[in-house]
Amino acid sequence: MRPLSLYYLDASADGVKERSLVPSSHLHARLRRNATMSHAFSCKLLIVGGGSGGCTMAAKFARRLPKDSVIVVEPSAEHFYQPLFTLVGAGVKKVSDCVKAERACLPDKAIWIKDYAKFIDPDKMSVTTAKDHVINYEYLIVAVGLKYDYDKVPGLKQALDDEKSRVSTIYSPDYCGKTWSDLQNFKGGDAFFTYPNTPIKCPGAPQKICYLAESYFTKTDVRSKSNVTYNTSLPVIFGVKKYADALMKVVEKKNINVNFKTVLKEIHPENNEAVFYQVDDPTKTQAVKYDLLHVTPPMSTPEVLSSNSKLVDKTGFLNVDKYTLQHCTYPNIYGLGDCTNTPNSKTAAAIAKQCLVLQKNLLKTMKGKTAKARYDGYGACPLLTGHNKCILAEFVYDGVPRETMPFNQANESILAYYMKKDLFPYIYWNLMLKGYYHGPEVIRKLINPLGK
Ligand SMILES: Cc1cc2nc3c(=O)[nH]c(=O)nc-3n(C[C@H](O)[C@H](O)[C@H](O)COP(=O)(O)OP(=O)(O)OC[C@H]3O[C@@H](n4cnc5c(N)ncnc54)[C@H](O)[C@@H]3O)c2cc1C
Repeated sequence: MRPLSLYYLDASADGVKERSLVPSSHLHARLRRNATMSHAFSCKLLIVGGGSGGCTMAAKFARRLPKDSVIVVEPSAEHFYQPLFTLVGAGVKKVSDCVKAERACLPDKAIWIKDYAKFIDPDKMSVTTAKDHVINYEYLIVAVGLKYDYDKVPGLKQALDDEKSRVSTIYSPDYCGKTWSDLQNFKGGDAFFTYPNTPIKCPGAPQKICYLAESYFTKTDVRSKSNVTYNTSLPVIFGVKKYADALMKVVEKKNINVNFKTVLKEIHPENNEAVFYQVDDPTKTQAVKYDLLHVTPPMSTPEVLSSNSKLVDKTGFLNVDKYTLQHCTYPNIYGLGDCTNTPNSKTAAAIAKQCLVLQKNLLKTMKGKTAKARYDGYGACPLLTGHNKCILAEFVYDGVPRETMPFNQANESILAYYMKKDLFPYIYWNLMLKGYYHGPEVIRKLINPLGK
């Protein structure tokens, strides 16, 4: 047995590499190695997924528990601030503005195993990774986010990978730069923007890029030669009525065609043709020619979760209590972020609020007490409606608005645009990922101490 903090495991390489890190005299997490180079670990807290939620919780618990008590399993060497992808697609930011090394986003006191979790055994309290490392935990946080199911739309992946296809998505760092190229190359014609028939992260983003594209076409004088269409699987433009009403005025003003309950079925990139179906009658299809197509791909939870019937509900999402974030069957398991079945808007803003609830409740669970802190469903969506305009939607469960600013946030605002572009990324990298940001509650109380 050797102190684990001496090692950083890179399981993405052919073999497992060991690299010397900061030597430690602590022995909280333990490593055993067998002849096949797979390892066995044990730790107090295991976090699966080192994205927005995973890094935030790692920072919080690495500070509170002894060194090496926290292990994070995360395969990616890079950490993206995804909300900026929309502005990359609109030509305002670059992909390089959205990324940092994963190591820099994790606390020094946590151990990072650079690998995929392959199987979670909640009864044995262990996780097996793709490289067959076995990690035994006392407590588990699941934060694996969502994956993109490009293959559910025949022709989509091929079109995305073809530089000249005029098909892109802001949802991936691989393709959001292509959205910006496509906007620049668009010289008029038919531009389509889609919203799929699955839960997605940032449900506002598919229409944000539509508004930003329209704003760019207006600036570059191609708007008068183009039709802009937003096809959404939903029956409404946004899930919160106050903002939906405001957004319907935006689409009217911008003369954007909106087709509800309309879903992208397949793409024939060789003919620049997209086929849509109606939610109410999937046999009803319509083929359209496009000059630009922005696709929001269907999404689902990663297989490590969706295939584990003990952990998920029937939709394949981690089955947690929507208030406490504690797993409905296994009290030593918690979840946060996009992969859980809490009925909030799947956003980084929601995670900021969830992380404090999870911290309080998990600490109680660790002491054998009842989890009592409650997540109110807070989520926020800065709905960019142009190159310097934004409707800053903030709301809690059941679509109830919960605004922070001392003005009606359903109105388009320049201030909200700059908050989205500059302030929120700053807060994310410098406060949230370090475990110090829990949403705008404090600011709301300062601005409006008596409450609205
Ligand atoms: C285009 C776009 C615009 C957005 N705009 C906004 C916005 O304006 N405001 C806002 O608040 N939010 C926005 N979001 C949403 C926000 O980025 C996400 O809700 C948030 O990042 C989710 O965090 P998470 O931790 O749940 O998942 P992620 O941050 O996606 O992290 C999940 C992690 O799990 C890892 N993982 C996956 N499978 C495994 C496995 N088997 N084993 C181990 N690790 C695994 C992944 O590599 C990943 O690092 C936007 C997102 C996009 C894509």
